[in-house]
Amino acid sequence: MKMKIRKNKNSVLLHILSFLIITFIYPSPSGAELPNNLTSIPGLTASAPALAWNPVANEMQIVVMASTGSLWAASFDSGGTFKNDWVPLPGITVGTAPALVWDDSSSELYMTGRAPDNTIWSSTFNSNGFFNNDWANVSGTTVSSPAAAYVLPTGDVHIAVRASDDSLWTNLYHQPPPLVEPLVTFTFDDANDTDYTLALPLFQSKGIVGVSNIVTDNVGTTGCLTWDQIVALQNAGWEIASHTVSHPDLTQLDAAGITTELSDSKNILISHGLVVKNLAYPFGDYNDLVRSIVPNYYRSARAVYNNGNINFAPLDTTALSAAEYNNTTSLDIYKGYIDQAKSLSAWLIFYAHAIDATDVDRIGQLIDYVLQNNIRIVTKDAALTLYGVPDIP
Ligand SMILES: [Zn+2]
Repeated sequence: MKMKIRKNKNSVLLHILSFLIITFIYPSPSGAELPNNLTSIPGLTASAPALAWNPVANEMQIVVMASTGSLWAASFDSGGTFKNDWVPLPGITVGTAPALVWDDSSSELYMTGRAPDNTIWSSTFNSNGFFNNDWANVSGTTVSSPAAAYVLPTGDVHIAVRASDDSLWTNLYHQPPPLVEPLVTFTFDDANDTDYTLALPLFQSKGIVGVSNIVTDNVGTTGCLTWDQIVALQNAGWEIASHTVSHPDLTQLDAAGITTELSDSKNILISHGLVVKNLAYPFGDYNDLVRSIVPNYYRSARAVYNNGNINFAPLDTTALSAAEYNNTTSLDIYKGYIDQAKSLSAWLIFYAHAIDATDVDRIGQLIDYVLQNNIRIVTKDAALTLYGVPDIP
């Protein structure tokens, strides 16, 4: 992610040349004279716009900065008619008009802008034109407003900027691995025995797998899973994850206490022949100290609702968001989450606790809805791999 700005005259000239070729020759139908058919666009007063063609949505995306410094997006349909469908883009207020370019490698529109503090920020629209609001800082220098162009065939985005002394600077920005599809994960917390007695047969009947988040102190107690049942879940393809030893509020513990809960639960699970990569926070609670210790033991940690029900790239791996499944919320609400994950190519994680026959019917309907929408149901660990999150030993 880190972008180093290099100053190299030859590479600057080469990149400027490629930028000009890509920008002015490649998309131009004739490459000759452009018709002088300027028309006014309704909507709002703004800075100079950025414009890029989205071949998947089959429309032209336009982004401008309003006089207040906020960013707005709208589109033209493939016939060139302005849709006047302005929407404000959340995230950061930028100091200049953005640059916008289509990235074939991720099927996204990639946008860069300069913040008022002169740092460069990037974000994306998915192929359907939905703004992902996934701003990331890609700069380490003071710069003017950037220009960006997609560079074939490396999948890199070329950024060129003007420094405050009027010199030109350039570099390639390598895109993080894109999410290629929406995903749904079903997880069950606390080691209730209904993970084995009810959820497993349901999931097997649908040809899918789930995740069981184990509180190791609960194993073998009344109403909870036995070690044999947990091993059987793993053998059936389920992911076994840690939900700590004793289910404390981790934010109430010191570093030593957090470390014990995280490391001992993992070691206990491993000693029973289980593969453990990921954690679920008790009560979904975490703080900066908890977050800082998680990567010593786990690939990810799941919170509960965190800035929405769904997860986007780049993932917040120590605070994955999840939606609670319970028997009082309407299935239409949950189907709305699934629709959202589909439309945004995002990752939706459900978490449930002990279930009964009614839940088997309701969760079965949700599974059917996910599968009817051609969305894959995967374990947490499989989703992390699809997002390019580094594995742990
Ligand atoms: Zn719990």
